[in-house]
Amino acid sequence: MVEKLQKLLGVLTIFILNTEASAQLKNSYSTLFTDFKTPLSINPPALAGSFGELRANHFHSGLDFKTNKQTGYPIFATEEGYISRIRVQNSGFGLALYINHPNGFTSVYGHLSRFNPKIGQIAKAMQYKNKSYEIDEFPNTDLITVHKGDIIAYSGNTGSSGGPHLHFEIRDAKTEATINPQLLGIQIPDQIPPVIHSMYVYRLNGKPFNEFTPKQYFQVIGNKGNYSLNKVNTINLSGDVGFGIVTTDKHNGQSGTNGVYMIELEVDGAPIFASTLEKFNFENSRAINSHLDYPALLSLKQSIQKSFTDPGNPLQIYSHLINNGRVSFNDGKLHLVKYTISDAQGNKSTLTFNVLANDKAVIPTPKLPLGTSFIYGKVNEFNNDKVKIILPKGTLYNDLNFVYQKLPKPQSNSFSDIHQIHNELTPLHTGFELWIKPDSSLNKFQTKALIVNMQRVSQGGFFENGYVKAQPKKFGSFFVAIDSIAPNIVPLNIANEKNMSQISKISFRISDNLSGIKNFNGYIDGKWILMEFDAKSANLWHTFDEQTLPGKHTFELLVTDLKDNVKTYSAEFYR
Ligand SMILES: [Zn+2]
Repeated sequence: MVEKLQKLLGVLTIFILNTEASAQLKNSYSTLFTDFKTPLSINPPALAGSFGELRANHFHSGLDFKTNKQTGYPIFATEEGYISRIRVQNSGFGLALYINHPNGFTSVYGHLSRFNPKIGQIAKAMQYKNKSYEIDEFPNTDLITVHKGDIIAYSGNTGSSGGPHLHFEIRDAKTEATINPQLLGIQIPDQIPPVIHSMYVYRLNGKPFNEFTPKQYFQVIGNKGNYSLNKVNTINLSGDVGFGIVTTDKHNGQSGTNGVYMIELEVDGAPIFASTLEKFNFENSRAINSHLDYPALLSLKQSIQKSFTDPGNPLQIYSHLINNGRVSFNDGKLHLVKYTISDAQGNKSTLTFNVLANDKAVIPTPKLPLGTSFIYGKVNEFNNDKVKIILPKGTLYNDLNFVYQKLPKPQSNSFSDIHQIHNELTPLHTGFELWIKPDSSLNKFQTKALIVNMQRVSQGGFFENGYVKAQPKKFGSFFVAIDSIAPNIVPLNIANEKNMSQISKISFRISDNLSGIKNFNGYIDGKWILMEFDAKSANLWHTFDEQTLPGKHTFELLVTDLKDNVKTYSAEFYR
């Protein structure tokens, strides 16, 4: 009875208004009652990364809490619930826990150094059962229940983490969309409005945006939330135009920069574009390369957020779009343009400037090289006698004038011509199929074949129907190579006949020359043992436990690459 009542109350409380949420921000969660506890006891909480911050090929999917450049801080369950997922990865989030909460959300904790003892034991048992360091397990609802504030783990730097911190997310448990935790009760001290660095004008001229689109840079000056263009009162523009902005946020007492929450653009007081980082779906995150001026990101290292959208951009962060944010200036009149930038705590900055529609202020688009017409939203194909490419539906954000060129094959480790597949300045949402016909010299190495780019980075791949096939995620120049070289194993503290009774771990460094490491397996006295791996340092180790008793033992390590080349290391040691 009591349990039923609690369940009912749980459902009801979701609909109670949360009066403390920053009311001025438009978000669909401000009406939900959520009271998530900060997952760390470091006060005040400080962010090394905010939700939706601009990262390479993705929006940051959560909050990165600073941990004083150290690991080992206790991590608390942010709400009651049960551990719904235990994940260990060589890279990515490293050691990670997921908690499902009765309020319909899932919280995620990444880059952990270790789990609490109970969860640690369960995880280790799963690793031994699967004979794999990497696991992705979904425990039953009653295996590990947690109360709000329970210590579930300790902060760390595992996976692809650039320094000690906690990566924290709150997701919609049903859709898995990740939601800005600052909208759900996680408070970060911030009274400082966003900073606006520069503004760009794009002369779209009725054409799709690409690296040929003429753009003009404008320096922005100002402070305390009020910005204007430096030395420019009025910009003369003609025809079809888009705008872009470079902006970051600052938090109280923090030297680093974070991402902003909302960008709104108005012309003559009417909204024409808004982007809001309230939530997003992981499968759309790569479209950050369409949200940004991708050619500028690559060639100028500038993160310009475009305020007009490409037709194939699947992100659902946009609203108030008039003509996709593209403005026509052709009435000869003066117009007022206003940007409003908000952070997740509701601090705002504005940039205002005048535009005079002047039909003499034309900057034409350069003539494009001769190519093949590719259409966004459709399957696009190109082939000749040496190469086939297929772009699945949803790969392109814009129509494309596709350009191809064949170049002679490189000197060493190459088994085909170089195929220049357009260029890297055009972003792709998904991988595309690339089939390259190899030389006859590949014959006896067919099982070792893969495709590499000009930096000789493997794109993966395998031999099929007379071609080597791979799925690169970027355009560029590619050729066929082989990996017939086994991985490298460097023992760091073990040697044959060594007495290791005073040593807690056996450590190695492992690497592969081309295709990459597929798996590693360690054995003591012929029995599989757990070896932990950190991809960023390439360190691989086994921590001795009660299974290895005092005495003489054999150790064996097998490391296999993605082309099934195997390297073995073995030694006898004393414990
Ligand atoms: Zn993070």
